[in-house]
Amino acid sequence: MQINEMERISEDSVFGGLAKLGHEQVVFCHDEATGLKAIIAIHNTVLGPALGGTRMWNYASEKEALNDALRLSRGMTYKSAITGLNLGGGKAVIIGDASTMKTEAFMRRFGKFVNSLNGKYVTAEDVNMKTRDMELIGMETKHVTGLPQSMGGGGDPSPVTAYGTYMGMKATAKKVFGSDSLTGKKVAVQGVGQVGMYLVEYLTKENAEIYITDISEEKLKSVASTSGAKIVGMDEIYDIDMDIYAPCALGATLNDDTIGRLKCAMVAGAANNQLADEQKHGYLLLDKGITYAPDFLINAGGIINVYEEFLGNYNRDRAYAMAENIYDTCLNILNEAETDGISTQEAAIKMAEKRISDIGKVKLSL
Ligand code: NAD
Repeated sequence: MQINEMERISEDSVFGGLAKLGHEQVVFCHDEATGLKAIIAIHNTVLGPALGGTRMWNYASEKEALNDALRLSRGMTYKSAITGLNLGGGKAVIIGDASTMKTEAFMRRFGKFVNSLNGKYVTAEDVNMKTRDMELIGMETKHVTGLPQSMGGGGDPSPVTAYGTYMGMKATAKKVFGSDSLTGKKVAVQGVGQVGMYLVEYLTKENAEIYITDISEEKLKSVASTSGAKIVGMDEIYDIDMDIYAPCALGATLNDDTIGRLKCAMVAGAANNQLADEQKHGYLLLDKGITYAPDFLINAGGIINVYEEFLGNYNRDRAYAMAENIYDTCLNILNEAETDGISTQEAAIKMAEKRISDIGKVKLSL
């Protein structure tokens, strides 16, 4: 089943929503004293504990928060499955203003809720969560990752994410151009934040012709000065003549408006949920002859880094070695998609679901 933004729980049936998306368990956490309201969604634990970050957001409604938790946790199941990790998918959302509500007691109370699940859910950083928050959660539970390297954690995952994205880009180039060399290829990187910035470093080493865009003038200047990348406008990026479009900023940039404008042979970037509608836009790209490297596979360096931490004795070299496997997995997916005549997104989801099903049977065997 494709991950579809449009799939939302209906007005009156929470269990209907859980059944449709295939969730195992959803936990509502409430604490009067600290004002904590959180939802922990455990999508699937066939491959291992449900690992996924905690996001804090001022949601417009509780329903919106629940939908986010359900959608994101399911995405984590597929991401870990396709990457070959022994992890299931989960996600937590905390409802409220992260700039005013996050006290020590608030975070530790959340940690107690995580602990009450006895390791079935393992948390990590996500939007509006910082390493310090993970430290506070860690005072109440050992089921937390994303701790600083000084505490045995994996630290900033972005360099590993960038490396995995780079591997996915090279594998896709191999399929599309017959060689994985990016030398001389015109690559447009949208967003030179934590991941985009490191990605540009790899591209610079390969002598790619790099184009960059960002909201931040400061980041653009800094990345352009070290890489020689050319700066283009935020909207202009969709129209330039390029070989590779690398979305590393926002989701949903592959949509009805942009796909028709893109003049590239392939898309490979780190942003989450790049396809506005997975089914429709996955096939629109296929019809246009643009090869799409599934985002949830090639940006999996972050979860790989956290997985390394989860296994214990965090070792960054091992995380990089695991991220390198993204190259082979990506090439397999592109080949399978071609053989089956389906979109690469659909092929990736099929592969993830097959692994969950196969390993599920192994686990049940004597
Ligand atoms: P970031 O916030 O450090 O960088 C994003 C950059 O995009 C910022 O510099 C921002 O100014 C820029 N930006 C925002 N809107 C833009 C627009 N309209 N046009 C151009 N630039 C714009 O985030 P990041 O950690 O580098 O993550 C980038 C993407 O990769 C996100 O979608 C994130 O969810 C995804 N991702 C990140 C990781 C990770 O390890 N950091 C892991 C998996 C996925």
